[in-house]
Amino acid sequence: MRDHQQISDDLVLYALRELPQEQAAELREHLEDCPQCRRELDAINSNMALLALSTVGSHAPQRSRERLLAAVRKEPRRARGFVMRRPWWSFVPSFAAVLLAAFGLMLWRENVTLRHRLEASQQDSSQKQADLERSKMVVDALTSPESSHFSLVSTKAQPVPEGRASYMKKTGTLVFTAQHLQPLPPQKTYQMWLIPASGAAPMPCGTFKPDANGMASLVMSNMEKDITPKMFAVTIESDGGSETPTMPIIMAGA
Ligand SMILES: [Zn+2]
Repeated sequence: MRDHQQISDDLVLYALRELPQEQAAELREHLEDCPQCRRELDAINSNMALLALSTVGSHAPQRSRERLLAAVRKEPRRARGFVMRRPWWSFVPSFAAVLLAAFGLMLWRENVTLRHRLEASQQDSSQKQADLERSKMVVDALTSPESSHFSLVSTKAQPVPEGRASYMKKTGTLVFTAQHLQPLPPQKTYQMWLIPASGAAPMPCGTFKPDANGMASLVMSNMEKDITPKMFAVTIESDGGSETPTMPIIMAGA
């Protein structure tokens, strides 16, 4: 099956009744559901009608021919061989008409090609415009002060426990806050550990229990001073706390 472009290229041949039967049938079928090709065929037909009107020249040459023949009859001797032949200039109008028709069709095809190109470029341009407006909308939604922002996570995922520890070595003060902590088993508590950079044993720094929302805080202000921590870690211990951490480590941060 040929496409619209191939078929519209054949419209001129079709209008001139020069298209092979099989292709003509295919073209007629295409015409039935292609208004664009129908319009083009109408345009070709009316162009050809105009060309035909503008080249109806047979009467004028006919009269000229008769005038010439009449003139020639006055000189019979010279006329014999000459009048039998059709004078060369009697071909001129029809030749001009063919030339004009050919030129007209050439212009018409050029026009169709240009119109197709124009339509394609208009489509391309409006696509670009749409892309641009879409990009602008995206940027606006992300950056405008009028936008609201939401973070979404899987509704089934458990939030990850997270904590923040601030430690002041000079005064031996630790401030720790945490959220999303898992509830503890009965008689258990979370315990904070300072793991010294010196490689010494982990130092217990107090216990804490999360509230119903999984939030907890711990402030220790009487810790041994001038200890450089390598990291802080949290374990689960029995109520009252331990002297050595029980694995696993629930949270850790260096
Ligand atoms: Zn078509």
